[in-house]
Amino acid sequence: MANKITELKQKLLECGNIGAISGILEWDMQTMMPAKSSHFRGMQSSTVSGITHNLATSKELGDLINSLKEDSEYSKLNEDDKIIVDRALEDYTKAKKMPVELVKEVAQASSEAHVAWEEARKRDDFDVFKPHLEKMVGYSKKVADIYGYEKSPYDALVNEFEKGLTTEELDSIFGELKDAIIPFLDAIKNSSVKTSHDLVNKFYPEAGQWELCNEALNTIGYDFTRGRLDKSTHPFTTGFNPNDVRVTTRIDENYVCESFLGTIHEGGHGLYEQGLSVDNFGNALGQSVSLGVHESQSRLWENLVGRSKQFLKFFYPKFQKQFPENLKSVSFEDFYKSFNHVEPSLIRVGADEVTYNLHIILRYEMERDVIEGKIKVADFPEIWNEKMKKYLGITPPSVLKGVLQDVHWTGLMGYFPSYSIGNIYSAQLYHKVLEEIPDLEDQIGQGDPSKLLDWLREKVHKHGRRYDPKILIEKATGEKPTARYFIDYINDRYGEIYEIARMMM
Ligand code: ZN
Repeated sequence: MANKITELKQKLLECGNIGAISGILEWDMQTMMPAKSSHFRGMQSSTVSGITHNLATSKELGDLINSLKEDSEYSKLNEDDKIIVDRALEDYTKAKKMPVELVKEVAQASSEAHVAWEEARKRDDFDVFKPHLEKMVGYSKKVADIYGYEKSPYDALVNEFEKGLTTEELDSIFGELKDAIIPFLDAIKNSSVKTSHDLVNKFYPEAGQWELCNEALNTIGYDFTRGRLDKSTHPFTTGFNPNDVRVTTRIDENYVCESFLGTIHEGGHGLYEQGLSVDNFGNALGQSVSLGVHESQSRLWENLVGRSKQFLKFFYPKFQKQFPENLKSVSFEDFYKSFNHVEPSLIRVGADEVTYNLHIILRYEMERDVIEGKIKVADFPEIWNEKMKKYLGITPPSVLKGVLQDVHWTGLMGYFPSYSIGNIYSAQLYHKVLEEIPDLEDQIGQGDPSKLLDWLREKVHKHGRRYDPKILIEKATGEKPTARYFIDYINDRYGEIYEIARMMM
């Protein structure tokens, strides 16, 4: 008889395989599937989800994990196997906690909320969405109660995406960020250096952009023998296993930054997935640790590397070769500034990296307050606009461009902070890499960031879920998560572009 740990790993592998099948169905739906197949595909996905849920919550699996947790068994395990058992127990307990009926109810309410949200956007009328949002907030509170929390019910929701992170910590990190970014943005507005997107908003034919996207992925070290690039309406990354990790991109012929940076962003997610342990596929040591850490990888490559002078300088001749009519007689300096143009805008997804986190902080504060019962859904449009004015200095002309812009609130709350946490981790990690590899940016300027990838593989990717996310960051950088390095980085890059003396400390 196989021993129990082998049996557990086998079961977890089966769950991983079913999860991968779900992923393939989803990838196909978003890239290749004929539109008319959506009804059947919906049924197929739902069948597979049911199987996944049954496997993940089966009594057999629970008994096996619990028996491995018994002293006599547990003490015989090596350190890696102990972690696999511990995480399996966490996942199992969590899956069992959520009543199946509630999961179905939430899914149903969420899909109705989605329909109402689309209708509300069409009519530019918050009231159409309001009762659905109230209902979803109710479900978020319910789920928070089921998962449990110590101080704020919002803790329980954030924990879904970033284990161990508390509302208190978020308040402190985001507070620091706000205090630094808002005055810095003012300094940009008042700078004598004026930039614009004019140059990057010319007509850039699709074929040339596609070529550059592929080259960018190759340059950052994405392995095309274990992945592929396709097009989809909403770019995403999906890993079926470390040897099959697929990324997608979207090309806008009137805005050359989107596909280039978007591809590098997804490529960063892809590098993380390709760097996970092949031998541990299915168990915790072969899984990504959190959304925040995942986002730190994508943003590190997109922003710290992709938008940098060194990387763009390496790519600029390629841009000029693809688009001579736009760029032949344009200096690199002008191209770089247009690429990194900063301007407060209404829509989060199009925001530059200086203003981006303010969009997130606004959403975070509203989520936290509504979940803690301090504000009402009915006041959302007004609160949204007040915060936009306060943080970004602009007021949305409509709810469509304000409170109704994101799809996220048709589901449960707690997701938004991971975007900014990703930014913060990315700058902290990058700062540490530069300390350890001082000439890294010269290497990037030569089109070779492989040392950076090696470092991330070693410090982040290979650990899977061995540590909680904030511990992983602390181990990699020697410091607890802090907004300081992100603030420094924004100061350095944009202070140089806009000729602003160092101001944020
Ligand atoms: Zn991402």
